[in-house]
Amino acid sequence: MLEIPCPFCGPRPEVEFRCGGEADIRRPADPDRCSDRAWTDYLWNRTNPKGVHRERWWHVHGCRRWFVVSRHTVSDTILAVSDSGQTAQPQETAADG
Ligand SMILES: [Zn+2]
Repeated sequence: MLEIPCPFCGPRPEVEFRCGGEADIRRPADPDRCSDRAWTDYLWNRTNPKGVHRERWWHVHGCRRWFVVSRHTVSDTILAVSDSGQTAQPQETAADG
């Protein structure tokens, strides 16, 4: 079981959290004008790297706050934790491909 260091509560067992998936997913600024490829990438395509991955985690059975974890997907080693994931909703960007 992972021990996840919540930036607000300290280290806690994995069962207190829910993974919110890949961090840094940006919603196209204008979905009506973006390409099908850009919209598909936004909705479905994720990087799934073998190595360091930035993920959003929610401390659902604790402080109920979102944060970002950099985790190595092979060793499950947590390399960094940031409270920059406070914004629960995806950010829009002008680069909608
Ligand atoms: Zn917490």
